[in-house]
Amino acid sequence: MNFSNQLLNWYDQNKRELEWRKTTYPYSVWLSEVIMQQTQIIQGTPYYLKFIKTYPTIFDLARAEEREVLLLWQGLGYYSRGRNLLETAKYIVSNFNGVFPDNYKALITLSGIGDYTASAILSVCFNKAVPAIDGNVLRLISRFYEIKEPVNKASGRNTVKKICETLISDKRPGDFNQAMMDYSSVVCSPKKPDCIHCIFNNDCISFKNNHVECFPIKEKNPTKKSEYWFYFIIQDTKHRKLYIEKRNEGIWKNLYQFPVFISLKKISEIEALNKFVTTNNLPANFEVKSISDEYKHILSHKILYVKFFVLKSSFFANLNLSEQISFVSKNNLSDYPFPAVINKYINQGFTV
Ligand code: SF4
Repeated sequence: MNFSNQLLNWYDQNKRELEWRKTTYPYSVWLSEVIMQQTQIIQGTPYYLKFIKTYPTIFDLARAEEREVLLLWQGLGYYSRGRNLLETAKYIVSNFNGVFPDNYKALITLSGIGDYTASAILSVCFNKAVPAIDGNVLRLISRFYEIKEPVNKASGRNTVKKICETLISDKRPGDFNQAMMDYSSVVCSPKKPDCIHCIFNNDCISFKNNHVECFPIKEKNPTKKSEYWFYFIIQDTKHRKLYIEKRNEGIWKNLYQFPVFISLKKISEIEALNKFVTTNNLPANFEVKSISDEYKHILSHKILYVKFFVLKSSFFANLNLSEQISFVSKNNLSDYPFPAVINKYINQGFTV
């Protein structure tokens, strides 16, 4: 029996029952794929259910406000995915009357749809034999064939894709891609692959050579840079409200935050406070109510060390810290989408 048939036989008996597998409606498949990127199924499933309930069709999503979408997305991280979701929904509704294109060339041009998502949509929804390659598939194939190229580089990935093009089932391409995901997650798992019970152990080269733990080969990423972020929760004691602002750049674009001072080198709390006060011309007569412990927040490209200051003054009402600033009461903070590190601080219950 060939690879594809063996895999599909296994899948027919062991397939994971996932909410989005109950349909081949492209909107649902796309939504699930975007949510599940960089996210574990167990964490992503409640988000998928929330989105489908709030926006049952692409037309509902296309009508949404960005703030609502980012609020629902809150906690998933990689917020550009949430912004792209809305942009693509609007684009498909305006340009394709709400119908997803059924070809790779058109899909790949849409915001937030890369090779993997386009391939998943084409195979699951349109029955096209296009392999979907993610980290799990890279691992399984690199072990099976002992691929010596780093799979986190384009050439290694292309090698795996070409191999998968020869393996994929023409009759059941969507099931093949989903089976690859399930099998590589459940059996050919990252840390303890179950090689003894694996259906491929007669043919798997790294297993036969006793090299399984050497694959996949990955090129080391450069060390992450550190940044020091100091958020200032500024309470105007006259109105008992806090300042928040909308970020207009970076990975957290269009999320909200407290005014922030960012340092590229480690500095003391006093230094951070002085720099923030000078940069923003704050009046001198304010009270520093509290300074939080340090929160470590790891992003794909850098590590943030974050602290929160609570400042109080009756003069803050006249300040003009930023064009996009708003006064909100502490109880209304949950109406705004914040990056996870700020939410963590808010949810731990700070006092003003
Ligand atoms: S034998 Fe082990 S390494 Fe090879 S495919 Fe199976 S689980 Fe993966």
